[in-house]
Amino acid sequence: MTAASNNLAARLRHLRLPRVCVAVTASDANALLEKAEAIVRDNPFLELRLDYLSRPGLALPKIKQFTEYHPQAVLVATCRRPPSGGRFKGSIASQLDILWRAAAAGCQLTDLELQSAVRSEPEALDRLRSAAALILSYHDFHATKNLEETLKKMVAIPADFYKVVTTANTLYDNVEMMKFIERNSDRYSLIGLCMGEQGLISRVLGLRAGSIFTFAAVSEDEKTAPGQVTARELHSTYRIEHVDAPTRIYGVAGDPVAHSLSPAVMNAALRRETVNGVYLLLHAKTLKDLLACIRDIPIHGLSVTMPYKEKIISHLDNTDAHTTKIGACNTVVRAQDGKLYGFNTDTAGVVRPLQLRLELENAKVLVLGAGGAARAAVFGLKERDAEVSILNRTPGPAQKLARSARARTIKRADLQKLFFDVIVNATPVGMGNSRESPLNQNEIRARYVFDMVYDPVETRLLKLAKAAGAQVIPGLEMFVHQAARQFEIWTGKPAPLAEMLSVVTKVLAEREALRQAAENKKH
Ligand code: NAP
Repeated sequence: MTAASNNLAARLRHLRLPRVCVAVTASDANALLEKAEAIVRDNPFLELRLDYLSRPGLALPKIKQFTEYHPQAVLVATCRRPPSGGRFKGSIASQLDILWRAAAAGCQLTDLELQSAVRSEPEALDRLRSAAALILSYHDFHATKNLEETLKKMVAIPADFYKVVTTANTLYDNVEMMKFIERNSDRYSLIGLCMGEQGLISRVLGLRAGSIFTFAAVSEDEKTAPGQVTARELHSTYRIEHVDAPTRIYGVAGDPVAHSLSPAVMNAALRRETVNGVYLLLHAKTLKDLLACIRDIPIHGLSVTMPYKEKIISHLDNTDAHTTKIGACNTVVRAQDGKLYGFNTDTAGVVRPLQLRLELENAKVLVLGAGGAARAAVFGLKERDAEVSILNRTPGPAQKLARSARARTIKRADLQKLFFDVIVNATPVGMGNSRESPLNQNEIRARYVFDMVYDPVETRLLKLAKAAGAQVIPGLEMFVHQAARQFEIWTGKPAPLAEMLSVVTKVLAEREALRQAAENKKH
């Protein structure tokens, strides 16, 4: 290590690098620096992707100006070549030259991939490293494997930081990455994370394992790596600055799970109640992978969704009597003894909004559907002495549920003769569209209609119910109340209901606006 690079590394340690480096891309130099200008106040740590520029050399005088105006900014210059996911098609010598000139223009760090470094002269690397701290990087776009062997190859080349970025194909790949960082971060300054939809865990928890920083995108449309999260999400949803060793980890697990509202709602609730916790999206393609991940991270609380609500029960240490009866668990908590306990909070999601409006004892309730959510509703309502009827597309499951819950079944043809205090839709009909309804208007004879479907907020069923003179309860109330009960089980604190409701409403309104915009574009 040269004296100059020693000084640089020491200076950077002194600088205490921010925890999130935001990757900035543009196709020309003006746009690149304009973008950097727009975000530097909130994000002083920026990676300038020079390889996205058609002529990277033209950006260098502008970078110099930028660094003079923003002495607080910490800049990484990257000019990656195609084999490592970059766009720079020039020679390795010209790649090193651009990085060196970017350092001379004021970038405090440069990022050079291992593949280029092994083909460079040691003197050229030394020259680069005298001008700026060097991040030696390695990318695997297919898998997370051979981490130790890769690091061994990397540390043969002197650098200030070693960055290992792989692809998570399972949730457990994140655990492998974090164990790797923990094992090696005493000896080397490491940056480690997994790309891909399943890599979120390592993007948020990698810092806690010892990664010096992590990467984020400027916006949804400007991601430079698969699975990258935006800087706004990392800061405001996941509160990455506060994730430390005592931070409790929560998450929602399912397949698919990408559109879950839970991370937005639960992280807002944790923040509002100042709980040191973070809630993650866990795309589990198998239950085995999920269970291994819960054990080794370890996860303190889990929301369980399709298709694992039933299957997870036999893997838990215990479930309460109500959950055992329903046969579906949507909430797992790790107790102080390390054991996993299962609960079903969908029942609270149905019962609580109804109790705010009417007396359930002897209330006549019709439940449409006989799946997991219907079971939670039927048992919960029966426990509160409601008179429950069940109507399902397929009669068999309805009869089975009615027998086990001591409820009754009805036929669709009977609907026009009957009047209910409440009709609850526990089928997915009407989800994601405003055309479908499980009932026609003339079949809706009730004081209240409660639709478990929450997207769109006002479903076709609820529109028809209003027209039929009923009061309506949207599915987002169920969503918020079941989530609130989970929050109480995990933290022992009352949930900030108003905050949770406002976050869900906002996210659903944004989704509706996007859907409308897409519809308008089609026509
Ligand atoms: P599930 O176990 O798959 O059960 C689905 C039920 O709906 C079954 O009884 C099924 O009848 C019936 N069904 C499905 N497609 C139908 C159709 N085209 N026409 C008529 N009936 C149909 O699902 P689940 O977990 O119970 O969830 C049901 C709904 O509740 C979903 O939309 C889910 O998103 C929603 N939910 C909302 C919340 C919330 O927080 N708001 C919480 C939990 C669930 P068959 O027996 O004939 O197949």
